[in-house]
Parts: sequence; structure tokens; C-alpha cells
Amino acid sequence: MLANIGQLLTLSSSSSGSRRGAALNELSIIRDAAVLCLGGKIVSTGTTKSALADPWLKKHRKKLTEIDCDGKVVIPGFVDSHTHPAFVLPRLIDFEKRISGSTYEQIAESGGGIRSSLESVRGATKQLLANHVLSAFQDMAAMGTTTVEAKSGYGLTVEAEIKSLEAIGQAAARWPGTVVPTLLGAHVVPPEFRGRSRDYVAAVCNEMIPSVARKKLASFVDVFTERGAFSLDETKLIFQAARQNKLGVRAHVCQLSQCELASLLDDRPASLDHVDHISNHDVARLATTDTIATLVPGANYFLGLEKYPPARKLIDSGVAVALATDYNPGSSPTASMPVVLSLACTHMKMSPEEAISAATINGAHALGLGTRKGTIEPGKDADLAVFEVTDYREIPYWFATNRCAFTVLNGTITLKDNELPFFVGS
Ligand SMILES: [Zn+2]
Repeated sequence: MLANIGQLLTLSSSSSGSRRGAALNELSIIRDAAVLCLGGKIVSTGTTKSALADPWLKKHRKKLTEIDCDGKVVIPGFVDSHTHPAFVLPRLIDFEKRISGSTYEQIAESGGGIRSSLESVRGATKQLLANHVLSAFQDMAAMGTTTVEAKSGYGLTVEAEIKSLEAIGQAAARWPGTVVPTLLGAHVVPPEFRGRSRDYVAAVCNEMIPSVARKKLASFVDVFTERGAFSLDETKLIFQAARQNKLGVRAHVCQLSQCELASLLDDRPASLDHVDHISNHDVARLATTDTIATLVPGANYFLGLEKYPPARKLIDSGVAVALATDYNPGSSPTASMPVVLSLACTHMKMSPEEAISAATINGAHALGLGTRKGTIEPGKDADLAVFEVTDYREIPYWFATNRCAFTVLNGTITLKDNELPFFVGS
């Protein structure tokens, strides 16, 4: 049991869907609060006073692990719904080239970018990859994240994509949080298929997706839909193959250039991510669907872009938005959801309340986990992030300083200095 919580942001709501418009500002805060968790689930929330007066608790209190939160702020664990952790090396040459003026696309054309991560991932053992992925998950948890969507996408052969997803699975088995694996075989066309993107798409559809589905290694299939990567028509083909193999779909869209989203929305993607250059027409269309627009401003920051995703336009038009890190070696090497929240507030003019809702319950909906994750309500998974602040607005305010005291992941506590986890209750 966590007691003496200064502000408990439950985000509870009578509606079970994703949050849009004004509902993004509703955090349902309980002051002087307590949360009781048992067997990895949330059992009850309320004031500390009412919790301590509860007859069941009085009887069983000695058997519970009780943590005095001493006025700290507790929020639902962040759901980081867009990450690329299956890589080995940082991309320092790209970093320096960008500093001296090259653009993302110029770097990709000269052999840098996504393609430059291929060699090390193809050559790595599954164990080495799994260790890298696990270390990313641990960094994320230390900053408040309890659920992570993790993509493959730096192998780009059937064998290397399967190895990447198996490495994600191995890391997930060693981490107490929740991991949702995604196949991103269509990240870019690998060098051996240069000029033959149609053949590569056929390999993704006819070999990669069916073998990943057969081995149950992924829940979703993702596509990088962009000039220099995959066209809308190719994306459609990959979506169809995913559907035939009973996998969900999502895509990176409009990151660098505008594209028409109507044809993709027919496949009901769980999320469309980036959407920096989305047209007004598509904003209106997206607002009528359940597809989440996942915004990843860490990439805009790291690429040194002046323009950020149009969060205000999306929210004010009724689109359900989520926030994620886009953790990856090329454009967003950060595991920090609090930094992303800070960027959302300062550069996208989202309120702290909107940013927290987007990073929790809407992230959960983007992964199809809205009924299990993203709010602190009885019956949901015991995923909590405890911050050493007295007001939740300090979470985006103290940017790049980790104020997360500890996280509870499916009932298991992880401490900042990686002390051994232990269960809350039993
Ligand atoms: Zn991405």
C-alpha cells in the first residue's frame, strides 16, 4: 500500500475510451491519498484516512508492504507507446553531420541513418541485443515508464527481424513492466534491395510477417511511410498482410512530408505517429476515428527542427493524441517521458494536464491496453510512478532532471538505484 500521497492523479473517468478535447485536462486528483495493490492489481484508491479506517485493511495491515509517500505525487506509470530499442550502437557520425548542417534525409542518402544501424544489429548475438533492450527498459522505468511498445527494425532481413523481436521478448521476460512488441520490417529498404522496393515489400508481406505471426513475436506491424522509405500503396499492402495474419497495424506518417491518410485509416490503425505535416483535411478526418495520433517531439528536438507536431490543432479538433519518446539511436536517443512532457508543454503548448493524459491513458489506448493500463482505478494493473515533487506540474517543469523516486510495475517496485524489486502485498 502506498499511503500519504500528496496528490494521487487517478485519471479515473466515467468514459472508457481515449481522452479528447477538454477531457484531456481531467486528472481526477485525490489529495492525502492511498492506493492499495494486491497481486499486481490496484484494489482501491481513496484518502489515507479512509484507507486506514477500512476494516479489511485494519485486519491485514501487518501483512502488507506499506510505503509512506510523504506528500509525493503519484501518477499512472507512463505508457511509452513508440520506441525502437533493438539497436546496439549510438549514431555519433550522424549526430556530428547534423551539427555541421546535413539534414536527416541527406544523412540517410549518404549511407547514414537507419541503414547504418543494420550491420551491428545483423552481427549481434540475440543475447547482446536483449541486454541493450533490457537496459533501455530499466532506464525508462527509472523515469516513470511502466509499459513500453518496442519495435524491431534495424535488422531488415527475416532472420535479423526475428532475432530482434526475440531479443525484445527475452528482455521483456527479465523486466517487471509490460512490453508490446511491434514488427517494423518496413523501416527502410535495405541496401541489398536498393531500387527493388517492390521485391522487399513482397518479402515483408510474404515471409517476414507470416513467420513473425506464426512465432507470436509481435502484436503490431509498423511501417515508415515517407519519401525515401515506403509509399502509401506499399503501406497498404503491408497493412493487408498484417491483417491477414491477425496482427494490428500502425505507421510513421507525415514526419518529413505531407501524405494523404484516408486510405490508411480504412485499415483502422491503432495509431499514426509523428503527423508533423498532417493536412487540415486529415486532422478533421482523424478526429472521427479511434486511431490515436502519437506525437514524438523528442525527435523534433534532437533533429534540431523549428517546427513541432501540431498538438493544439489536433487536440482542439478532437483528435485523441498520445505522447511517446520515439527512443532510437538516430533521431531521439532519450528514454525520458518527463522530457517529452516538458517539450510538449514548452514547444507544443499542451497543458501539463493534457501532456500527462496523453502519456498515460491515451498511450494505453494506442496499444489496445486502455482497459488495463493508463489510469489508477480498481481492477487495473498496479502500474504507478512516484515523483519527488509536491505538485504534478513540476513533472514537466523540472526538465531533464529525474524526479521519479520509484515506479511500481505490475505490482513490483523498482528503485532508482536498481535495488532488488519486492512485491507490494502478495
Ligand atoms: Zn519511430
